[in-house]
Amino acid sequence: MNVVCWACGRDRLEPFLDLGPLPLAGGFLSDASQIAQEQWFPLVVHVCNDCGLIQNILPISPEVLFKQYYFSSSTVAPLIEHFKGYADFISSSLHATTAVEFGCNDGILLEQLRARGVKATGVDYSENISAIARGKGLDVVTGVFEPETARPIRERIGPVDYVTGSNCFAHFHRPEAALEAARILLKPDGLLGLEVMYAGDLLEKLQWDTLYHEHLTVLSLGTLSVLLERNGFHVVDVHRIPMHAGSLRVLASADPNRAPHPRVAALADEERRLKLNEAATWRDFGRKVLRLIEIVGHTMADLGARKRIWAYGASGRAALWLSACRMTYVERIADASPLRAGTLLPGTHQKVVLPSEMRASPPDYVFLTAWNYFDRIRANEGWYRGTWITPLPRFEFF
Ligand SMILES: [Zn+2]
Repeated sequence: MNVVCWACGRDRLEPFLDLGPLPLAGGFLSDASQIAQEQWFPLVVHVCNDCGLIQNILPISPEVLFKQYYFSSSTVAPLIEHFKGYADFISSSLHATTAVEFGCNDGILLEQLRARGVKATGVDYSENISAIARGKGLDVVTGVFEPETARPIRERIGPVDYVTGSNCFAHFHRPEAALEAARILLKPDGLLGLEVMYAGDLLEKLQWDTLYHEHLTVLSLGTLSVLLERNGFHVVDVHRIPMHAGSLRVLASADPNRAPHPRVAALADEERRLKLNEAATWRDFGRKVLRLIEIVGHTMADLGARKRIWAYGASGRAALWLSACRMTYVERIADASPLRAGTLLPGTHQKVVLPSEMRASPPDYVFLTAWNYFDRIRANEGWYRGTWITPLPRFEFF
């Protein structure tokens, strides 16, 4: 068992949220015959008493998690917009003309970079998803982002201006190997850009439903700085971005003479003010989360005994909410991704269907597991006359 902090390498980890056994949030089943083989794993979230990093310390082999992956970014409209903006930032603000993206998924960013004349190569571990990206004519290598993968890429395309990983860095069991791979690929004045879920938003919005096994860590500026500095980088700029209900975009350099933007010190001060990197803050968070799960679970079970309920948004958040609250009475789960349609949700095994199927027999209530996209979903489903329920950022009925 790994008992060493992912960021600082010390061993004073403390559990603050025990969610019990839960299914893998990305473990969609292709049909009912797979239910008997489904595994649930304990989910106990820890905080480091030295640097304050939020982390899961029972990682599961990436073989189990990502070899076949049911998350294709290009089916999520807000993500397409996000990556258009990110590609503009890389080409217009940073003036990068060459880039490598690890965890490139189906090429959602690579396509946007190509459209802006940035020569970009992708790396992704998932065989089925990287094949989709190559099908678009993109340069994509299937493999783990580590030095052994990076060296042949550098030999082939030369050093690059920019290396980035968007919402995937927290999946890496060995972040130091990914950072070494980035150093191998970067020009001396190149920049590393990481987009990561932000612990500040986790705390503020109580969004425990992102704390699933696949997410080994939730980072802050403080904890990411600790990790980067142990591996030859330092933070030179930081932006808060809305992706996944709250993320950070952190730019780091291996050039010790490169001075950080004043935004870095400002956010570090804000984290100190919020006590974001302190264990006591997270103990309190853990208590609030367990209470919320209890309240949502009881309320929904009462409703489910009398009324018809669907869920909307078959993401990792859905698997966590429905399993933690044992919401077996939910009939179906609507999701716009054709990749997931027809599969069964991990844990409670509702069939995933396209949102259009909800029209045939509209339920009384829709439990919005994709609560972070509420405005957009409500606009798309303007015909629906029943009641929407959001579990977060507040448990509310609309
Ligand atoms: Zn630590």
